[in-house]
Amino acid sequence: RAGAEFVVVANRLPVDLERTEDGNQRWTQSPGGLVSALEPFLRSRDGAWVGWPGVPDVDVDEFSDDGLVLHPVRLSSAEVRDYYEGFSNATLWPLYHDVVARPIFDRSWWDAYVRVNQRFAEAAAAVAGEGATVWVQDYQLQLVPTMLRELRPDLRIGFFLHIPFPPVELFMQLPWRAEIVRGLIGADLVGFHRPGGAQNFLWLARQLIGLEPSRGSVGVRSRPGMVQVDDRTVRVGAFPISIDAAGLDKLSRTRSVVDRAAQVREELGSPKKILLGVDRLDYTKGIDLRLQAFHELLQEGRVEPDDVTFIQLATPSRERVEHYQQMRADIEQIVGRINGEFGRVGHTVLHYLHQSIDRSELAALFQAADVMVVTPLRDGMNLVCKEYVAARHELGGALLLSEFAGAAAELSSAFLVNPHDLDGVKNALEQAIKLDPAEGRRRMRALRRQVLTHDVDRWARSFLEALGAGTGS
Ligand code: UDP
Repeated sequence: RAGAEFVVVANRLPVDLERTEDGNQRWTQSPGGLVSALEPFLRSRDGAWVGWPGVPDVDVDEFSDDGLVLHPVRLSSAEVRDYYEGFSNATLWPLYHDVVARPIFDRSWWDAYVRVNQRFAEAAAAVAGEGATVWVQDYQLQLVPTMLRELRPDLRIGFFLHIPFPPVELFMQLPWRAEIVRGLIGADLVGFHRPGGAQNFLWLARQLIGLEPSRGSVGVRSRPGMVQVDDRTVRVGAFPISIDAAGLDKLSRTRSVVDRAAQVREELGSPKKILLGVDRLDYTKGIDLRLQAFHELLQEGRVEPDDVTFIQLATPSRERVEHYQQMRADIEQIVGRINGEFGRVGHTVLHYLHQSIDRSELAALFQAADVMVVTPLRDGMNLVCKEYVAARHELGGALLLSEFAGAAAELSSAFLVNPHDLDGVKNALEQAIKLDPAEGRRRMRALRRQVLTHDVDRWARSFLEALGAGTGS
């Protein structure tokens, strides 16, 4: 059987199909970290990528992009509503993020999830060559490993979850909990960001489907575990994802980024301190809590409005899901209140941008910011905080980071906060704003040591090695 030796299966393709104003279609690159991390593996081994092109109701044939086969999966509008916006983003997303919002359990959404997962499994089975390695990505596709194994027992299958795996008490609320666990154990290796997620999954595999732990040691780091499924061993482990740290470090040293950072400071009126938040507009990110902490510091006179500017970039996200519409309205109200109270003609204390910006502009904002404020209530990893660190080659800036981001386990030299503890957040913010520069450099040096040596390439290699798939390039 001819076909790809290495296949990635993800909800989205690495390119997006867009409809132009004149009714035509064109492809745009979506340059995520995952794409660039996997590119060397994909190109060196007849790679293929199976995913949805981002637009409903279009049929696109498989095509080749610079040596990489792209295999589009068609979704109807109803499937986008039920499988994607519904089950993935209004059931699993809130459930896996500690029920920060209430998950909705809808049986017709579940039916669509099963149907669409089956379609992805069939597409992967069609493009994978004999004995190929298939790497399935994320919460939208948790049934694919077992569905794919049934179609193609010859394949080596890995699965990685990019969001947190919840505590068992929360997972047990899911009416389809056993089906999800059964879907995942079709993989040879199931990877999570944190050892805790791996432990939770192992416990559930034993309790819900009676799988026995198997003995012996394997090369999976961070307290490995294994379960026995018939004559197969399924490995379970933690693999914290990261960023293209060297790439961002390099970008942030370029003249244009350095100049743009200086220009940003100037355009803001050269305030003493610039605070920055960069998030998708999502209720897991704790944007409202951080703005409230900032508001109270201003009200209490602990921070002078003329001395600071807070820039909050909130990238539009999932705008058709109801949870997100309400949250946007709430946050924009807080923004209005803070500026109404503390702005003056010629000085806006809080700049709120509901838009998406490119990598260079983002690197410039990172450079310009004295304090990076990252306060998710729960986040699988959080890449933005690592990007901030990678962009600070001159060792300036301070990072305030939630304990509930996966990244906190690696970034102990940040100002770590419990985002639910408003007084704690306020104290840490004040400390970070008034930080002694020598202490700041010491912290940033330690943060950079971690981020620059644990990049996304290392993440991909360690997962694929544990899967026994070698490291290609
Ligand atoms: N990002 C971007 N443009 C923006 C805002 C963010 O490209 O306007 C990128 C950011 O650099 C990071 C990613 O989006 O790589 C966000 O990843 P993270 O893990 O922090 O959060 P997620 O959105 O995946 O929950």
